[in-house]
Amino acid sequence: MIVSPAFAGKRYAILGLARSGMAVLESLHASGAELLAWDNREELRESVADKALIADPLESDLTGYDAIVVSPGVPLNSHPIARKAKADGVSIIGDIELFAQARSALPSHRVVGITGTNGKSTTTALVHHILASAGVPTVMGGNIGLPILSQEPLPDGGVYVLELSSYQIDLTNSLDCDVALLLNISPDHLDRYDGFDGYAAAKARLFDMLGSDHTAIFASQDEKTQLALQGLRDLGRVQNIVDTSARDIAGQPDWPSLQGPHNLQNAIAAVATVEALGIDEAQWRPALEAFTGLPHRMERIAESDGVLFVNDSKATNPASTGPALGAYPKIHWILGGLPKSDNLAECEPYYDHVVRAYTIGEAGPLFGKILADHVPVESCEMMLTAVQRAAANAGPGDVILLSPACASFDQFRDFEARGNCFRCAVNSVIESKLIGTAKGEVKR
Ligand code: ADP
Repeated sequence: MIVSPAFAGKRYAILGLARSGMAVLESLHASGAELLAWDNREELRESVADKALIADPLESDLTGYDAIVVSPGVPLNSHPIARKAKADGVSIIGDIELFAQARSALPSHRVVGITGTNGKSTTTALVHHILASAGVPTVMGGNIGLPILSQEPLPDGGVYVLELSSYQIDLTNSLDCDVALLLNISPDHLDRYDGFDGYAAAKARLFDMLGSDHTAIFASQDEKTQLALQGLRDLGRVQNIVDTSARDIAGQPDWPSLQGPHNLQNAIAAVATVEALGIDEAQWRPALEAFTGLPHRMERIAESDGVLFVNDSKATNPASTGPALGAYPKIHWILGGLPKSDNLAECEPYYDHVVRAYTIGEAGPLFGKILADHVPVESCEMMLTAVQRAAANAGPGDVILLSPACASFDQFRDFEARGNCFRCAVNSVIESKLIGTAKGEVKR
């Protein structure tokens, strides 16, 4: 666990005792801080009663506290804790800010911070993988893996690779990354921000914290990413600003887990990141080839009768599904769920890769209507039906891709449950030898 003398004798209120909140509590307690903690769930409150005063911060006087630590899941734009913090004159922070404050007591190390609307986890895992392959001590944390404060400190020369959502950046004031990477910005999470501009500004704050001799990397040509890049250039404060959006790297066919234009963007950004840390091509190129990817992100789950099944359940918006369609030429596309937008604009450029679409969930009728003029569509409603229909229609060289362009909550607990359901359905169609059985029907 990461602890720090910087927290000793200080007073913190912790709101939310799920994974990161629990790691915060353990770290602050072990560091000698005085704590008040709260969670709506009684069993969580009880489990920490020996380490913290159990009280609801909304009903406590927090004047004189050093900070209120909240989980990134708390919507600061609407939750009453924001008003309460203001009234008591206390700042609201998250676990990444505590990590930033603990850094001075850690062995010499560097930090990579990765943000963006899509591709954060993939790129974080890739940077971590390249560094580990090159023999650099490294861990990943933030929005991926274990909470950063619960991990063991790295030895001298280590690199902490942090995936940072905009919510986490909102709760962070002093994280000076050695390399800060912004992958892309497209409309998302608009319920938590003052419009698209507010969301983009939240991401760009990562660079406000960057020391002038550190490196800023921008990976996409989208408007908001380029605006953030231009804004940083105009300030003239940060010296090393890298725009990888026009860079190309050959060899993508040799990286099986990094297919599609989006993963090329991620790979190029990851390479620029590790190069800024002193890793050279002889080290990163074999690592790109060996990278196995993350579950539910363009995950190759099976190949049968010449048909490849790919699970991209994590694609919860059209901007992440578009490039997934770009990854293969002949796709049976399973999409739908809880829609985040009323259009599929980012997918349009790739419609000619779609052999047939199969809609599921709440967005089914809407997407069916949007797609009807462009590709054959079958309304399936349920995942198993969609996989069965797609398998029956598919032939050698085709790819059956779940890339829903929607949130999962209409039918599933989360995107993982949706991806697992897809996997089960795939296993069942393979076992029941359904592939290509619709030969007599009109297939395309
Ligand atoms: P995040 O952590 O930002 O949600 P992930 O790496 O988990 O990103 O990928 C989420 C989804 O977005 C996946 O479906 C993936 O295929 C897609 N994706 C990955 N990288 C990008 C990118 N650079 N641009 C657009 N979509 C992407």
